[in-house]
Amino acid sequence: MPASPTPVPSECTQQQGSLPAPTPRGRLVVLTGPSGVGKGTLVSQLRQRHPELYFSVSVTTRPPRPSEQEGVNYYFRSREEFLNLIEANELLEWAQYAGNFYGTPREIVFQKLNQGQDVLLEIELAGARQVRQQYPDAIRIFLCPPSLEELERRIRERGQDSEASIERRLEQARKELNAQDEFDYVIVNDNLEQALQELEALLYPPSPSAEEQQP
Ligand code: ADP
Ligand code: 5GP
Repeated sequence: MPASPTPVPSECTQQQGSLPAPTPRGRLVVLTGPSGVGKGTLVSQLRQRHPELYFSVSVTTRPPRPSEQEGVNYYFRSREEFLNLIEANELLEWAQYAGNFYGTPREIVFQKLNQGQDVLLEIELAGARQVRQQYPDAIRIFLCPPSLEELERRIRERGQDSEASIERRLEQARKELNAQDEFDYVIVNDNLEQALQELEALLYPPSPSAEEQQP
């Protein structure tokens, strides 16, 4: 007759029977939209209200604009350095946009997600498509301008791009606008405050109040 297993004393059950609770993973949020639509403006306001949200700082070969800082807005790298990052598989996604390379550092994103922190990527369309393939659970949001005319006005008013770069950005914008159906949510940035509220409601829906939970 096989020996019956030694009963486990109840005070030991905890140690023997359970693994550490899994850390809930953070959410990966992808914000895409044509250049000049207001992604940067919206994101900076969202971050002020939700400092717990981790904003992924991208790598780019584009030269810094006067107001931009290394490690804050982007990591500014040479073309050669960027190609080395691709080669070393250090980018979660990358794309060429208006004559420059842009990419998302992979490791820090997964580190933050594994720590349970939400991560926001502000990236263009080709990158958003790559993220979708690699990470289907990502929440993908498209920010849309009220019109192409208004988009052009905003890019020009920003005053940061050469005429050639503006032309390339507008050409790219037409392609991106045609792809908005690929996204989980579309927010129109006409009134900034309203767009911010919509984004916030989507990411941080108000929990039902105790009163509403009453039968
Ligand atoms: P993106 O990051 O998408 O390229 P920016 O955040 O740099 O765009 O915004 C482009 C320009 O449009 C900036 O001058 C910004 O102040 C302006 N802008 C952003 N949102 C609005 C809005 N809702 N109405 C009018 N101007 C806006
Ligand atoms: P800008 O030169 O105006 O800062 O950015 C140009 C475009 O590149 C924007 O649409 C911006 O969202 C996108 N972008 C910024 N960082 C990344 C990135 O890491 N990957 C990809 N694919 N696009 C990015």
